[in-house]
Amino acid sequence: MALEIEKIAKSKIADVDFNNLKFGQIFTDHMFECDFENGEWQTPKIRPYQPLLFDPSAKVFHYGQAVFEGMKAYKDDKDDLWLFRPDENQKRINISAERLDMPAFPKDYFFEGLTTLLKMDKDWVKTGEDSALYIRPFIIATENCVSASSSNKYKFMIICSPVQAYYSGEVKVVFADKYSRSANGGVGFAKAAGNYAGSFYPTKLANQDGFQQVVWTDASTHEFLEEAGVMNVFFRVNDTLLTAPTSERILDGVTRKSIIQFAEDKGIKVDVRPVRVSEIVEAARKGELLEMFGAGTAAVISPINAFSNKGEVFDLPKIENSYASLIKKGITDIQKNKAEDKFGWRVKVQ
Ligand SMILES: *Cc1c(COP(=O)(O)O)cnc(C)c1O
Repeated sequence: MALEIEKIAKSKIADVDFNNLKFGQIFTDHMFECDFENGEWQTPKIRPYQPLLFDPSAKVFHYGQAVFEGMKAYKDDKDDLWLFRPDENQKRINISAERLDMPAFPKDYFFEGLTTLLKMDKDWVKTGEDSALYIRPFIIATENCVSASSSNKYKFMIICSPVQAYYSGEVKVVFADKYSRSANGGVGFAKAAGNYAGSFYPTKLANQDGFQQVVWTDASTHEFLEEAGVMNVFFRVNDTLLTAPTSERILDGVTRKSIIQFAEDKGIKVDVRPVRVSEIVEAARKGELLEMFGAGTAAVISPINAFSNKGEVFDLPKIENSYASLIKKGITDIQKNKAEDKFGWRVKVQ
């Protein structure tokens, strides 16, 4: 396939302090883009990372017709680059796109673009425990027209940002009993931009009360626990891990399904079933709720220290040998080519 490449005149990498990266603020030298026009994807390009020029009437600004992905690349000690289950992200952006009535982006374009971009910006991926390259593919509606209907022009892009470990510090969460992030028949299963916009206000209210995140419950009854912020959520009650099944309201996270498979392989019992607020509150009262954590690409696993339900705050115990740390280490070792990958998750960039 044809891929036009324009290289940056001089790399910006020398200006970057890789020891003080704030998540998602610095981008690599190049970006991948491809426009959809006249019913088809045009010749894809890699160009120096730069601002885009849009007409103010571009549909994405008015109707939020936009979807994205989040994935990471890792560099091992031999300077080889690795992706983690990238097919899952490639498939999922098209599942999201279909729900937002956007055209699917072809698999061969996706991987040719991603691989070429990663090889060009390889120096931006640092080795070492804490470093990775966060990869953000996205599709936006670019037709210049404010009529409320699907666009007939789109832009697919991939941009990349070097990141360090994601230390979230203490994470206290509030169980949602008023706001929702998704509902049956909605777009909750898609990585649709508007899902995130809609979650910021309830999250701000939680922040004002001293909590970092909202654990979303089902929109109709608020009796079932579904996601933690922009992550899937797991609960450890005694020695069993609980997590909700994916649904049209819950995003089918790559990290979530990897955790389930990894944990089961380690002999940990995992129950994938609807999780009631009442059973988690009860388990916390009895001292049987040992862990709660969010699961997503950015942090892999983000432990939760406390939760609030209807104004009552419950602290989780501090335990040794947590499932969270065992599973996080197991999965990150596979991601970084430090452990055998019996699941076939790791893909070399070449
Ligand atoms: C991206 C995302 C996740 C996590 O998905 P991963 O594939 O594990 O990164 C979970 N929930 C929501 C709402 C998300 O947007």
